[in-house]
Amino acid sequence: MMGKFLPRRLAAKAWWGAACLALGLLVACQTAPITGRSQFILIPESSDAALGLEAYNAILAESEISNDPALNGRVREVGHRIAAISPNPDFDWRFTVIKDDNPNAFALPGGKVGVNTGLFTVAKNDDQLAAVMAHEVGHAVARHGAERVSRAVLVQAGLAAILAASKPKEEGQPAEAEPNQNAIYLQVLAAAATLAFILPFSRDQESEADHIGIRYMAEAGYDPRQSVALWKNFKAAGGNRMPEFLSTHPLPDTRIQRLEALAPSMMPIYEANRR
Ligand SMILES: [Zn+2]
Repeated sequence: MMGKFLPRRLAAKAWWGAACLALGLLVACQTAPITGRSQFILIPESSDAALGLEAYNAILAESEISNDPALNGRVREVGHRIAAISPNPDFDWRFTVIKDDNPNAFALPGGKVGVNTGLFTVAKNDDQLAAVMAHEVGHAVARHGAERVSRAVLVQAGLAAILAASKPKEEGQPAEAEPNQNAIYLQVLAAAATLAFILPFSRDQESEADHIGIRYMAEAGYDPRQSVALWKNFKAAGGNRMPEFLSTHPLPDTRIQRLEALAPSMMPIYEANRR
């Protein structure tokens, strides 16, 4: 029916759009742990482990791994204690200490976590270390990496659709001018989309990882108030030059305020689980 009223190419586009949406909804419906936020994720969960491990090995191959037994012991002990109370204790969790003065940490899909030696200049005790580890475990179990990739795919698809729709319809136009104009147009759109769509979303994910993290800290028996102390240390150490860990992140003050507001409700959970 539709083909009769719409030009054939437009009808094909509409069907493609509907198919993508249906496929997207089938693949993607998921909610984040603790916050219950609805997530749009195109990558099947079964791919997380392999993708995460591949990226992890690539990063570790370019890094200097720390063999310090005390630091590695603490990171593994705290990491596994938090992973054990997460919804994914069965992940192949890996915790590696990297020789790097930057106070940074990262998490990859499937539970692959890296912690820089520089982090120990701001994480002054195991509870503060737990605040970082629980934040990273939060990223992994909430599948933030896969969600970010899905969003990037969506932005790319949107840009391609805008570009396709804006192409001149008349035949016989000079072909040489088009690629350049399109490239500039696409760059401007991509920059705008990043500002409007990707960066605020990164900050939302950071806040969510903080929220999940403070809860998991308490459940694993670490003092949730120490997350506030950790961020105060970060702020004091950061000065004007924010650590990479904080780029595309909420302002430290916002973060501290949110964690301070959450901490009292986490205290009964901590009291019930402290060792
Ligand atoms: Zn984070």
